[in-house]
Amino acid sequence: MHLRTGPSLNIAATLRYAGTVPAKQTTGLRLYNTLTKKEEVFEPIKKGTVTMYTCGPTVYGRPHIGNYASFLMADLLRRWLEVSGYEVIHAKNITDVGHLLHDRDQGDDKVQKQAEREKLHPLEIARRYEQEFLEDERALNMLEPAYRPRASEYVKQMIVLVKKLLKNGHAYETDDGIYFSVESFPAYGALSGNTLENLSAGARIDVKEQKKHPADFALWKKCVGGNGAHILRWLFATGEVSTTEGEDPASGFPGWHIECSAMSSSLLGEQIDIHTGGEDNIFPHHECEIAQSEASSSRKPFVRHWVHRRRIQMGEEKMSKSLGNVLSLPDVIHEGFSPLDLRYYLLSVHYRTNLKFTMKGLDDAKKARRKIMEWMEEMGSKESEEGKESEEGVIARWHEKFFDAMNNDLNTPAALAVVFDFMTLSRLRKNDLDQSGLSAVKDIIEMIRHTFGCFEPEDMDVSAKVLELLTKRKEARQSKDYHLSDQLREEIRKEGYEVRDNGDEQELKKL
Ligand SMILES: [Zn+2]
Repeated sequence: MHLRTGPSLNIAATLRYAGTVPAKQTTGLRLYNTLTKKEEVFEPIKKGTVTMYTCGPTVYGRPHIGNYASFLMADLLRRWLEVSGYEVIHAKNITDVGHLLHDRDQGDDKVQKQAEREKLHPLEIARRYEQEFLEDERALNMLEPAYRPRASEYVKQMIVLVKKLLKNGHAYETDDGIYFSVESFPAYGALSGNTLENLSAGARIDVKEQKKHPADFALWKKCVGGNGAHILRWLFATGEVSTTEGEDPASGFPGWHIECSAMSSSLLGEQIDIHTGGEDNIFPHHECEIAQSEASSSRKPFVRHWVHRRRIQMGEEKMSKSLGNVLSLPDVIHEGFSPLDLRYYLLSVHYRTNLKFTMKGLDDAKKARRKIMEWMEEMGSKESEEGKESEEGVIARWHEKFFDAMNNDLNTPAALAVVFDFMTLSRLRKNDLDQSGLSAVKDIIEMIRHTFGCFEPEDMDVSAKVLELLTKRKEARQSKDYHLSDQLREEIRKEGYEVRDNGDEQELKKL
């Protein structure tokens, strides 16, 4: 077994669930829908296949664990749909242009701002943080989506959508951009519970914007005024990359919201089954996505199930970059935890409750996870003895209990309670099990393992120290410090792993 840390690797793909599930259990998932504000029985548009879109990161810094909590919820949902027998076509984007500070229409592009700080080209910044993000995702054992579109590579499709909205009267042009007219779309506010009245109360329109309503939002920003120095730019007329510099109203860049509308319809079709994101995405981002997508298509609703992860709190406060109380994955590793301890912790609470993150909670999660893994190993190595009774009937009931918990709006705390009870029972009865009883237990273990994705055998679960050494070594290689890189290779060897370089990737092999 080996683990690589480069971008093209997919550890998780090798762990794809191949178990069999009784047909009666392929339906019955009840999922809370943010749009209708109630739990609904999940049924995909096309029998057996689920299309799912996840708003990915804006790559201008390392995402914090609150961001990962939302990506992990999406990963859990996808895994559960697979265990339930569906094929899931999952798209998760990378936003590398157009996401302005404070998620609004004014201010700098987050990626460009970071590029100015680090004196690099915006795309260098975007690719660097994309790489870090992919490494974190892999360490957290998230399954690779079918598509990872980058916004900058879908600008032509975005322009097509904007032109459609201009033509059908849902958008209008001003001196500094093209805006969506919220008054032209009566359902605006349905997802977030906002109304045009409360959105306009106290809001003011920047004179440069010439917006008709304060809640109108940018579909396209021209390279004029504050955006005159924007580096990544395209010609609105043709969608080609623009080579102009400085002020140029013919060149511009997309607004953040139009990116997801264009990428999801290009890859998954005009109507999709599930759209996920963090609670903070509901407004304005997802509200605007609905307006753009539904105003440009006859397929409604654009998304059949909206699923949002509640935010993570640090004690009583919201975890956010602006409050300066964020933790990244390397911070957690530095404290002696494995990425999969964090994965267990973040998934052990229901996705619609606010987790109050504490180190004590993480430590308890680590211990609980170890207990489950020890049990899995113990049962995995158990051989059956002849002449003993089968307990299949009893075991099937535990299978059902686990399904019931997960089908109840992904009730992971209840599902884990079932796991702990089943652990006690299977240990008590392990000497009574015949071949088929034992293999039924092992099947359930495989299902639990695929669902949660954090009980991988220990040789896959590289220690926090090794992961930290790998991160340092990657940085040393990037700055061409080969002496340090060789020293780190030796340190990794002392930890029991050989590291090999394959292009930009580091491959790890147990010695
Ligand atoms: Zn999005």
